[in-house]
Amino acid sequence: MCGMQVVVVACDAQGNIDMADLQAKCEAHSDKLACIMITYPSTHGVFEDAVRPLCELVHQHGGRVYVDGANMNALVGLAAPGAFGGDVSHLNLHKTFCIPHGGGGPGVGPVCVAQDLVPFLPGHAAAGKAAVVGAVSAAPYGNAAVLPISWMYIRMMGASGLRHATETAILNANYIRIRLQDAYPTLYAGPGGFVAHECILDLRPLKESSGITAEDVAKRLIDYGFHAPTLSFPVPGTLMVEPTESEPLEELDRFIDAMLAIRTEIQRIQDGDWPREDNPLKNAPHTAAQLLQDAWPHPYSRAAAAGHKQLATKYWPPVARIDNVHGDRNLVCTCPPIEAYLS
Ligand SMILES: *Cc1c(COP(=O)(O)O)cnc(C)c1O
Repeated sequence: MCGMQVVVVACDAQGNIDMADLQAKCEAHSDKLACIMITYPSTHGVFEDAVRPLCELVHQHGGRVYVDGANMNALVGLAAPGAFGGDVSHLNLHKTFCIPHGGGGPGVGPVCVAQDLVPFLPGHAAAGKAAVVGAVSAAPYGNAAVLPISWMYIRMMGASGLRHATETAILNANYIRIRLQDAYPTLYAGPGGFVAHECILDLRPLKESSGITAEDVAKRLIDYGFHAPTLSFPVPGTLMVEPTESEPLEELDRFIDAMLAIRTEIQRIQDGDWPREDNPLKNAPHTAAQLLQDAWPHPYSRAAAAGHKQLATKYWPPVARIDNVHGDRNLVCTCPPIEAYLS
């Protein structure tokens, strides 16, 4: 942190950066303001229309603007951080630019800076650069062997293709938001009622009326053949759906149909058809082993438990509900002891 301190800026009721609070904090810290870090569009999934005045305000007080490049999927070909006032931005190539990163790696994030910040970029002795800041990665240009993936993606898409991808990502998110709005309202939207490339579905009201939590819905999605979207981030009790441009309409509809079917199940709990503690959501996901037992102790049918109607193509989870928090806190190695391999 080089001796710097973080000052948190408030959000307003619409989930946007509170400009009055930002102004007060810029004034209070004007003599030592280094920079602001913003995410645009925001992690609330909204293109905040005060982004230009925000950058101007910070610049007036001598600060610079760091734009988190994680949401470039909503910007490429449509808007450039440098043009709306950003001074620094990294590009998460493992997000918008196709580097596969399932399971946590490899991440690649080149940092782009305004011209006058170039001398402050990290250097590397092997690259013959005497820099103000030393090396931050072992190899001079990072994990260079991964970068051709992003290069090929950009070359093959071309300028118009990249723009089309961005537009499709935004369209897909808004399609999901609109089709699900009666079942699961979206928490934040921009002034025109639209979201950027992701939407936060608010499940918190359902908890009061049915006892069903966002986690129950996430687990129930497994019975319908889906890995759940982001759970309880950035707002607890919500699901954040970020479809990207990659999913065809058929797949978006399949997801929406599953979410609507789950909403109907929640309705049956609200109506008292199923008890609050013994229903397909609280017990999700259901394994084949559970459904094949002779005894069936639940007030809902096996067919209802299975969720997905086409059993031949259904994904069967190998384990039922686990206690995530307990698992995270109690690491257990399930490998056999080494002697088992030697004997
Ligand atoms: C994914 C994400 C990050 C983290 O980026 P990584 O490079 O994957 O660590 C930061 N901010 C936002 C808004 C993101 O979506």
